[in-house]
Parts: sequence; structure tokens; C-alpha cells
Amino acid sequence: MHAADRQKPVFRFAPSPNGFLHLGHALSALINQEMAGRFEGRLLLRIEDIDQTRCRPEFVHEIFRDLAWLGLEWEEPVRHQSNHIGEYQAALAKLEALSLLYPAFLTRGEVKARVAASEAAGRPWPRDPDGAPIYPPDDRNRSPAERAQLLAGGLRHAIRLDMRKALALIGEPLTWRETGDGAAGIITADPGAWGDVILSRSDAPSSYHLSVVVDDAAQGVTHVVRGLDLFHATAVHRLLQVLLGLPEPDYHHHRLVPGPDGRKLSKSEGSTGLAALRAAGVSPAEIREMLGF
Ligand code: GLU
Repeated sequence: MHAADRQKPVFRFAPSPNGFLHLGHALSALINQEMAGRFEGRLLLRIEDIDQTRCRPEFVHEIFRDLAWLGLEWEEPVRHQSNHIGEYQAALAKLEALSLLYPAFLTRGEVKARVAASEAAGRPWPRDPDGAPIYPPDDRNRSPAERAQLLAGGLRHAIRLDMRKALALIGEPLTWRETGDGAAGIITADPGAWGDVILSRSDAPSSYHLSVVVDDAAQGVTHVVRGLDLFHATAVHRLLQVLLGLPEPDYHHHRLVPGPDGRKLSKSEGSTGLAALRAAGVSPAEIREMLGF
């Protein structure tokens, strides 16, 4: 990196290699490219492969291929999350030192059963902004002795953030600077709406939320440009940034590309996959046109 580059705004496109890229990813990559150009900034690519149960190396290869075909240019080396597990563990240790973490033993099935029983009894279960049930308070409320006993028994567990303690610790209202397609301006962040978010799982050493804030800081990202589906997740990212003493980037959440049925695109949607479109003879210029560039 040249000395002059240190002052430049830094953008990043951060796909997860758990499927093929589709038009929604192309839109995000191209908006990042367009904004990096407009702000005379740098564009980084990050491979978000922390969840090795879902990510596959062949998809990483396809990501490079699709993006190069689209005409995206990014700096080398590309950061792969799987190479930085120690950094996420260090961030987790910082939060642990603040007594903000606890081991969470309930399985997904147990939570589901609990929610179903409550709803069957006419008591709606609180849900997060993505519609997933808020984690029950059982594990948060365990005594240290009980916790130690369960851990000694080798029970599989995740690590969760004690949201109430975290909010009490920061004590200040959280906000972020937004320039995107929904609301623009200073947005009030409501991380509490997510409950006790998961920060590490027995089969994945760090969660999306934790890795993304550690990475954005490590890579000096100044502008986070991504889809509106991650708008509300920004509240959790801001909370983690404050707790970990990390800088605050600007955020730009852009419109999503609707699927044929009007819903959000998923990675299994072959017809909008970039590789499938390329194989069908669609050109990168036509992709840009389809996306309104
Ligand atoms: N890896 C995430 C995804 O593919 C994007 C994360 C982000 O841009 O913050 O949806």
C-alpha cells in the first residue's frame, strides 16, 4: 500500500462462499465499485467463510470468477475470515473480560419447542428483526456453580452476549451514520431488539456479527455498503464496535433485487445466478443494465 492510499476511503464487498453469487450480489459489488470510484477510495474483497459448516472452497473460486467477469477490480491479498480466527478469539476474550458473555446450552430444537409451547398457549414469543425467536433467558440466569457443572459435563454450547448487561455498560444511546436507500441520516440503533446474540458456536469459532466488526476495523473500512437486509444488524455491529473500542464506519444499505416471486433472492435461485446468466450468453453490460446502472 502506498502512503497516499492510507488516507483514502475504504470500501469492501464481503460475500459468503456458501452458494453461487446472484444478481443481488452483483448489485452490491457494483454499488461498492461505483461508490469507491466516486469517493476516490479503495475497494477490498473479503471472503466471509467463518462458518465452515456452510462454506465450500469451490464457491470461493466461483466468486473470483464471477466478479472478474463482471469487471470488478479489488486489492490483493483478499482477506479470508478462516485465516483470522485468533483475532475473533481475542475480541471474544475482551468481551469475556467485561463479563458480558455466557455459555448457552439450549439446542435449536429446544428453543423451537419452547416457542411452540408458548405460542400454543396464546403467549406470543418475542422475535428479532429477522423474525427469529429471541433466545430464552434460562442460560443467562444460571448460577456460576450450575454453569461450571454443565461445562464440566462437556455439554455442547454456544457463546452469547448478555445484551442487557452490554447496554447497561455502554449507557449511551447508540447511533450510526446512514446514507442508503431506506432512511438516510443519523439512525438510532436498537441492538436490544436482537436479544442475546450469538457470538460463537460449538461448530463455528465466531459469528457473523463478531467477525464483521473485527474485519471492518482490521481492514480500515470507512464505508460499509451492503443490502438493506442487513440494515437492522448494524445496531449489533455498532454495539460491538463500542464495546471493543473499534472505529465507526459510515453505512450505506442499498435496495435488494427481488426474485421472480417478489421475495428476496436466495443462493439456490439458479435463474438469477451469475454463472447461469453467463452460460446463457448474458453479457456483463446486460447485467449492469438489468440492475439499473
Ligand atoms: N457476508 C454477508 C453476506 O454475504 C455480507 C456481510 C456484510 O456485508 O456485512 O450476506
